[in-house]
Amino acid sequence: MVVGIAIGLSLAAPRADAAAPDIIVQQSSHQGASLELAQQLRERQQSLMALNQRADARDRALIGRKAVLATYGWTGDPDDVTAVLPLASYRVSAGFGLTGPLWEAEHGGQDFGASLGDTIVAVAAGTVTEVAYSGAYGLRTIVTLPDGTEVWYCHQADVSVYAGQLVDVAAPIGTVGSTGNSTGPHLHLEVRPAGSPVDPMDWLRAAGLTP
Ligand SMILES: [Zn+2]
Repeated sequence: MVVGIAIGLSLAAPRADAAAPDIIVQQSSHQGASLELAQQLRERQQSLMALNQRADARDRALIGRKAVLATYGWTGDPDDVTAVLPLASYRVSAGFGLTGPLWEAEHGGQDFGASLGDTIVAVAAGTVTEVAYSGAYGLRTIVTLPDGTEVWYCHQADVSVYAGQLVDVAAPIGTVGSTGNSTGPHLHLEVRPAGSPVDPMDWLRAAGLTP
């Protein structure tokens, strides 16, 4: 604003004061100051533009992450997420603690019915500690969380991570299958905080989710 006025005055000056050399000198010094201010303004505008572009990119990244987390059941602040649901859509199937002919002992996890090939994501960030075929569990990925809790993803058709890899919450780890002791495509999810399994639904609810 101030610079604009200064430029306007210096442009108007020659017509009004052309005959007075001292004024011209003064005007020329004004013009120098105006050019300097204009240059400073340009630089400030450029750095503001760069800042805005960086802010936009950050916003887009945040919106992207927020949308991904929402797909997996987390609708809160992305910075607060500790866990998400393992699938974008599923049918709640056999629950934790059931007994029956399908299981040698109590059902140690929660079954999520889904389609063959559906993407399974990590319910929490951790380290992949095992990827292997494991008898009745079929193709199983184990992710160990920082607190030592093991999360088992069983009956997978395919795996997209390797042992030793760090995975972020909601990162794809593989796809739904029916390997091992399974009667159809589903994810058998186990959560083992201290070696023995707890009800994954309770664990997910405790993390603020609505499975
Ligand atoms: Zn199961």
